[in-house]
Amino acid sequence: MAAISLSKLNKHYGTLFHAVKDVDLEIADKEFVALVGPSGCGKSTTLRMIAGLEDVTSGEIRIGGQLVNHLPPRDRDVAMVFQNYALYQHMSVYDNLAFGLRNKRVAEREIKAAIDRAADILGLHELLQRKPKQLSGGQQQRVALGRCIVRNPRVFLFDEPLSNLDAKLRARMRIEIKRLHAQIPTTSVFVTHDQIEAMTLGDRVVIMRDGRVQQIGTPLAVYERPANRFVAGFIGAPAMNFIDVTVRRGADAMAVEAAGLRLTVTAADARALAPHDGRQVVMGVRPEHLVLGDSASGFSFDARVEVVEQLGSEILLETRVGADSLTVARVPAEMKVARGDQVRLSAQVGRLHFFDPESELPISG
Ligand code: ATP
Repeated sequence: MAAISLSKLNKHYGTLFHAVKDVDLEIADKEFVALVGPSGCGKSTTLRMIAGLEDVTSGEIRIGGQLVNHLPPRDRDVAMVFQNYALYQHMSVYDNLAFGLRNKRVAEREIKAAIDRAADILGLHELLQRKPKQLSGGQQQRVALGRCIVRNPRVFLFDEPLSNLDAKLRARMRIEIKRLHAQIPTTSVFVTHDQIEAMTLGDRVVIMRDGRVQQIGTPLAVYERPANRFVAGFIGAPAMNFIDVTVRRGADAMAVEAAGLRLTVTAADARALAPHDGRQVVMGVRPEHLVLGDSASGFSFDARVEVVEQLGSEILLETRVGADSLTVARVPAEMKVARGDQVRLSAQVGRLHFFDPESELPISG
């Protein structure tokens, strides 16, 4: 069993900089958790503390129930994959894979069996005699993964392992890592600044900002019920649109208004917004929840198309709503729209988000 538990984990660099702040996180045995957030949010520092590469300022780290704060990395039984692969350039792939086991004086026969198994899983057989510089980036990263597999550790730690690869290869390696986790279910923590990577790989996603955890949840939960405006804007691509609106109670319905925009809200949203009547709130709507065309129920508004991005599979529209609100809608590729067109956009019912402008917390029913 190798559950990981982080309790009130803090990291200070010197006296001035507080990089990781009171992080609490329970990772179940065999779970795959992705740590995601913008550059500098403390995700790598958190991972490096789990690995033992960084001292803990305060708080506790447990792996498999054991307090590991003061254990050196080699005694934690974790394997780490780095962005720069960290392969020994003068050794063959085979010797790179064997290195850790030879250090532990494992018999060559056993080492060969472990390497065969890793090579089967990762398709490395024809590369075993090459040197790392004779490999592509993707192949080198597969070797780095292989080196972790042969050690059969309790925990895999990934520090932005796909960042050096091009977009296509990243997508392929993502699938390989997912397949690997299915074949060898091992507790894994994966650090990335790429929310798509986090969402596709993680059983759960941990979103961090400025050293603090913002939300922990399944990919669907953080997408559908973001804990604050930051998470709402960070998760999802293209990002959620935000518009400042004023809440207005009408004769028979509640609405939100901005220049050139008046939207009726659902009964549930109306209940949540009632205490904000007459005040400004932030409305969030995801591009994929805006539909081109009118809807009968007061959820539509006028917009002028400013930019059309034809992606083949879909179109992204940059539109101006009223005086200054810019929004993006994601519409089917076959739609006929051009720059300068006046269009009607409709928000899908129940897909509007509202946030308090000060606390940035959701206003929800
Ligand atoms: P990135 O995606 O850019 O790697 P990150 O979220 O992984 O970002 P960390 O590497 O954990 O961020 O760094 C968190 C903060 O701590 C950053 O502001 C960074 O500058 C700072 N930091 C990291 N290492 C040190 C160090 N050795 N000394 C001082 N400050 C550091």
